Formats: sequence, C-alpha cells, structure tokens
Amino acid sequence: MAKNVKSTIAEAPIFQPEYETLERHALEALQGERLAALVTRLRDANALYRERLADVATPRSLADLPGLPFTRKTDLRDAYPLGMLAVPEAALARIHASSGTTGNPTIGAYTKRDLEIFAEVNARSLALGGIRPGEMFQVAWGYGLFTGGLGMHGGGEALGACVIPASSGNTARQLQLLEALPIVGIGATPSYALVIAERFRAEGRKPKALRYAICGAEAWTKEMRAELEAALGVVATNIYGLTEIIGPGVANECLHKLGLHVQEDHFLAEILDPQTHAPLPDGERGELVITTLTREAMPVLRYRTGDLTRMWRDRCACGRTTARIDWLTGRVDDMLVIRGVNVFPTAIEEVLLGFAELSANYRIIVERPSGGLDAMTIEVEHHADAAIEDRTAFERRIASKLNDVLLISCELRVLVPGTIERIEAGKAKRVYDRRNLTA
Ligand SMILES: [Zn+2]
Repeated sequence: MAKNVKSTIAEAPIFQPEYETLERHALEALQGERLAALVTRLRDANALYRERLADVATPRSLADLPGLPFTRKTDLRDAYPLGMLAVPEAALARIHASSGTTGNPTIGAYTKRDLEIFAEVNARSLALGGIRPGEMFQVAWGYGLFTGGLGMHGGGEALGACVIPASSGNTARQLQLLEALPIVGIGATPSYALVIAERFRAEGRKPKALRYAICGAEAWTKEMRAELEAALGVVATNIYGLTEIIGPGVANECLHKLGLHVQEDHFLAEILDPQTHAPLPDGERGELVITTLTREAMPVLRYRTGDLTRMWRDRCACGRTTARIDWLTGRVDDMLVIRGVNVFPTAIEEVLLGFAELSANYRIIVERPSGGLDAMTIEVEHHADAAIEDRTAFERRIASKLNDVLLISCELRVLVPGTIERIEAGKAKRVYDRRNLTA
C-alpha cells in the first residue's frame, strides 16, 4: 500500500546534491582527506590538541579514526572562554554561547567561512523539511547568543527563502504574522510550536499557508510530533545540533521521516559503545560522537555528545546518501536516576502521549522527603475535548502503564488544560528535580 509513498510527498529540491547525494566511497574519501587536514591544523594551531596529538600519527583514512583522542564537554569548559580556538582571535566573525546550567557557558566561535557553512547546513535543513526557495519561513527560535534563531535565519537566506525573524515569545505577534502572510514553514522548539498551535485553536483562528514545522533544540518524541502535526496542521521534521559542533543544522529529517540526515561532509559521526568506546554497527544504539571536519575557528575532534542514538547508512527514499541518525533518546545528562533506576524524560512523554486524552503539556517532579525514598510525581494536562468519566480510574491506568515501562512507581495527576506554565522563550522546562543532589 505504501509503495508509492515518494510520489505523495511534496519534497523540496535538495540544496547541495553535490554533497548530499555523493556515493559512499567518494564521501568517505572526502571525509578522510578533511580529517587528515584537520589533525594537522589542530596540531599546529591549538595547545590542547598539540599535546593530545603529540604521539598520534596523522590519519591516512577514516580507518585511523578510532586511534584519535576524544574531546569532552569538560575540555570546552576548562578552555573557557577561547582556549579551543584554532585561529587568531582577529579572524573571528561571531561568537554564540549556550547557557550552562552550572558553571561557564559553552562558547561557539565562528570565522566568516564557518558562518557560511552554518548557513549552508541550515539551508539544507530547511530543504529537508520541505521549504523551497522563494517561500516564506518564520523563525520562532530565540535570536541572540543562542544559536537557534540566527542559525536558521542564515539558512533561510542561503536557501533563497524569505525569512521572517519573529524570534521566540510574543505569541500574539506570531499568530498575526502566520495569519496575514503566506508563511509556509516555521522553525521553533516543539513545545513553543505547540503553544502557537494551542493559541490558534483557542482563538478559533488559522495560519494562512503553514505546511511545515522544523523543530528541535529540546528532547522530544515521535508521539509529541504526531500531537503537534495534528494541532498545527503541518508536517514536522526534527532538527539536531549543538553549540559545541556548530548549532542547529548538524542533522535534519527529510519528509520521509526515516531518521535525521547528518551533513557528513562537514560532521563526521560515529556511534560508540558508551562503556567500551568500540564502534557499533549500523542500527545499534550508542553514544553519538562527532568530529567537525571543516570548522575553522573552533574545530572539535571526536566530541562526545552524550546523546544516545543509532545510525543507518543506506540510501534514503529521498535520494540522499548521507547517513541518518534516529531520534535521540535524550542526553546522558538528562537522565534521571530515581531510586537507582535510570529514567529518561522522553520515555515518560512517550507513555503519556500514548493516551489520546492527554496533551503534550506535562511536568515531572522529583522529590526526596527527609529520610525517605525518591518520589516522582507526573502532572499532565488533558485535552480540552477529552471525555474522561472517572478521573481516578484514568489516572490509575496511566500510572500503571508508566510503572510497566519505567519499572518504577509514580504519582500521576491529570490536570485541566492551561494549568501548566507555558514557556514562550527558550526550552520547555519539564523536569523539576527538588532533591538537592550535589555531584
Ligand atoms: Zn531522506
């Protein structure tokens, strides 16, 4: 039945087919050359890498990759602010920063060429997500030090789209623009896109021409995607990126939704066993490790992202040959350890959204009563039109399902719509860990 899926999907043209459809052997040859040049450059231009690469031979091909040292988030923190630079400060054209919850922010520095690459990979992302040159695209990610707003903005311009720099927040204005202008696509965090959808629904209004949403910058699930697509009337694709690598645009799903295409000519991806660091075969889940092959200002070698996923390298139905990564289960850092059990917030989201009555507005509260065991409470709103006859029985049913999946008991409360605070700027706050844990 799904034989002619391709013909039913209105794909936009591939932005850079000369890289995105390269045969694997040609792509790997290019990656190998770029990797060798990177190692030489890092050894010459950065003190930290000079030391780490002292006894390491310059790689001759990708086969030598496992012999190269890793870079960790702590390396970037220790090198704050500019210790990771591989160019003179005078060569910098822009600096972004991601807000760290603890300690120093992570700096992302760019040369003029880095900004061109940043724009190119985001233009590829927009095209992956269905946007064509000449169409209007609203950026509802925050502008400023956060890489999301300006990253997508540059991508839209490079693609030849008309960019509407709405930034995040001011939801009334977002609606006004989407209603008045023939805006085809929107970029936002998934939680904010849902805020916009809810507001449209509540006010009985509709966007004029919106068909695509490109969402990311926070952990979310395919269940949340289905919710968002229905609420906003769009096809939503998942975008992945991180400040340490470049910002958004590292990978994006195409409309076939078979995983996120990695821009492999710029970002060399590996999936490693998190314990042994051995490379895992395609399809097996492990830690995503990325080397920036072309970054000038602040390249990283084998950066341990802490993100768990798996990778496939077969040709996609869209015609691209670039590897695809699966939706990310969440960062190792996001994992909660409750009564000794590992719990990913995305696993909770998956269960909640398995119930048609529930919305994607939820929060997870973890507490440790004095002298007691950790207690987890999950609060979730039901849909305005959900028919719930016996709330207690319904709550019991959800709690039991959560217990089955998470292997841990929790208190579950179903709330009326609008109870949980909506975040208009920045990332949704889902987890309230009140245990005062100190590392
Ligand atoms: Zn594809």
